[in-house]
This record gives sequence, C-alpha cells and structure tokens, in this order.
Amino acid sequence: SSSSFLHPHSRGQILILPKNQHFVLEHAAPFSAFLMDSFGRQHNYLRISLTEKCNLRCQYCMPEEGVQLTPKSELLTTQEIITLARLFVKEGVDKIRLTGGEPLIRPDVVDIVGELDKLEGLKTIAVTTNGINLTRLLPRLKEAGLNAINISLDTLVPAKFEFIVRRKGFHKVMEGIHKATELGYHPVKVNCVVMRGFNEDEVLDFVDFTKDLPLDVRFIEYMPFDGNKWNFKKMVSYKEMLDTIKQRWPELEKLPCETSSTAKSYKVPHFQGQISFITSMSEHFCGSCNRLRITADGNLKVCLFGNSEVSLRDHLRSGASEEELIQIIGAAVSRKKKQHAGMFFVLC
Ligand code: SAM
Ligand code: SF4
Repeated sequence: SSSSFLHPHSRGQILILPKNQHFVLEHAAPFSAFLMDSFGRQHNYLRISLTEKCNLRCQYCMPEEGVQLTPKSELLTTQEIITLARLFVKEGVDKIRLTGGEPLIRPDVVDIVGELDKLEGLKTIAVTTNGINLTRLLPRLKEAGLNAINISLDTLVPAKFEFIVRRKGFHKVMEGIHKATELGYHPVKVNCVVMRGFNEDEVLDFVDFTKDLPLDVRFIEYMPFDGNKWNFKKMVSYKEMLDTIKQRWPELEKLPCETSSTAKSYKVPHFQGQISFITSMSEHFCGSCNRLRITADGNLKVCLFGNSEVSLRDHLRSGASEEELIQIIGAAVSRKKKQHAGMFFVLC
C-alpha cells in the first residue's frame, strides 16, 4: 500500500516498510524510495518492449504462426514511451534496454533512442536484437545515442540457424555483429541460448569466436517457458558448459562481477573478448534483481515470472498526473516478491 513507503520524492534515509520494519540506510546514494522494494533492491534498470512482433520465429520463443498481436491502438506510442521513461529516469533509473519481440522492426526505433538520449541521468541506452536489421540501422542508432548492444545468435552453422529461427538471415546477423564491433561497441554482447542436442556442441566454437573480436558471448541457460514445447531436459547447466570449456582452456580466468549483474564472466587469456554465463535456471538471481519491465502495451511487470501487472498505459490515457503515476509504480514495486515462484526443481 502507499503507506508502506515514504513520499515518492523523499530521498531520505529511513524507509518505512511493510510489517513496520524500519531500515536505516546509511550512506545511501540518492535514490527514490519508490523504486526500492521491501527487500532493499533499487530498481535502476528498466526494460521496455517496443513491439510484440518479430521477423524470426525462434522455436523456443514463438510458435510458427507468430503470437496474437495487440491492436496498434493499444500499444504505447512513441510519446507515451518517452513520458514513462522520463518518469523512471527522474526517479533513479539509469539504464534502459529496448527489447521485444524484435525492437528493430519498430519504425520509430531511431527516434525513440534519440528522445531517450535527451533524458538527463540516463547513462545507458541498450538494445537486445536478433541482428537481422542491424547493419542497416546501427549507424543511425549509434548517432541517436545507442551505447550498448546485445545480439542473439545461437549457432555458428547457417543451416542450424535456419532450423532454430525458422527463417533465413544467418549472414545478416553475422554482418551485424561485425558492424557493431567496427562502430566501436565494446563489448558487443552475443546472447546464445544453449540447448542440449542442438548447440551444446558449439560451446567451444563460440569461445573461439571471442579470440579476435571484442565480444562477450553470453551462454544463456535455456528456459522452458510454457508452451515452447521444449522440455527442461534441453537445459544445459552453466557448470556443465564451464567444465567443457575448462577442459579445453584450463587457464580460463574468472572476471570480477558486478553486484546486480546476472552474468558470471570468464576470459581466455590473450583473447580479445570474453564469455559469460546467464544462470537463469540453475542459480536464480532474484536477490540482486534490479529490473523492471514495461510491455509493448504498457503494462509494468516487476518480475519476468510474476503475473501481477499494472497498466501504465491506461493510467496515462485516463490523464493520471505524474505524481499519481509515481504512486502507482511505487506501489507495484513495493509488492515485488522476494523471489519468483519455483520453476521446476531448480528455482525453489
Ligand atoms: N528479438 C530480440 C532477440 O531475440 O534478441 C529481443 C527479444 S528476445 C525475447 C530476448 C532474448 O531472450 C534473446 O536473447 C533470446 O534468445 C532470449 N530467449 C527467448 N526465449 C528464451 C528461452 N526460452 N530461454 C532462454 N532465453 C530465451
Ligand atoms: Fe523471440 Fe527474439 Fe527469436 Fe524473435 S528473435 S522469436 S523475439 S527470441
């Protein structure tokens, strides 16, 4: 409830929490109380989905026929996205990632990046893309202010690429990865979902991919979402991948990790790039989760796995004031649970 946190604009030292716990935050950095949940997690990272549409049909993510699309009138407009982003940045968000669906098929993506770039206090504007339209768009995105990029690529074998994404385009993605390095993105993050029986035999090839390019290849534990028909036996744990890599590269170095980072990073000495593991299944990272998400139709989700959503779009369209929106967002964040409900056996 709104009584569970201080006035949204208070950047004070005492946070009144549910169950009447009182926390004294010593040396706390100025940060809006409304973006802090009852477990002390400061949410400074916002992901915004620009569209539900995609030009690929990855087997683990979308059905062949695509997903049921929300009518355009119900999606956030450019202006609404910027209004919400401004509000979050004002309250302490310093990193925004544009995602989707495929964010680069939204026609106004360059304008959105340009508008975000004007927000004072926003340090990082990132995008997660399948890379198909990247070579064409990246120079303009960079000029507009895009400063971090993740490109998804699960295989280095063109035929396997076509199988998994059910479309052509392998060479476009590779070209996009090279373009990103040429334009100075450092590192260029490459998201690789590892699936047993599909690409777990390519883990070492992906490590080699980091030899001469400033990449961070991020091996992602495959998550068996409802309806993607790929059961959890396809999940390859990070420990298993790490074992394989250490057999080939015993000198693999562990890199220091940031507190809120979801990645465990390593490097083969003398390689330009590095590798990381996103252990979404074997070791959840709820405890340090600093993320919030806005869906393409304007729902705020405080947890990727939670069902509780609040429609910021509806509040915006019914004329809510900035102050009211802040209250609504603050209440949603304060309701965020300590960790999401267990998925199969691993996340209990
Ligand atoms: N279309 C963009 C892309 O593919 O990069 C952005 C959206 S996509 C949903 C974001 C990331 O989620 C991609 O890196 C994708 O590989 C990953 N992803 C999708 N389904 C997944 C699953 N079942 N398990 C693990 N990662 C998944
Ligand atoms: Fe899903 Fe991204 Fe693949 Fe599209 S490209 S189907 S959004 S993972």
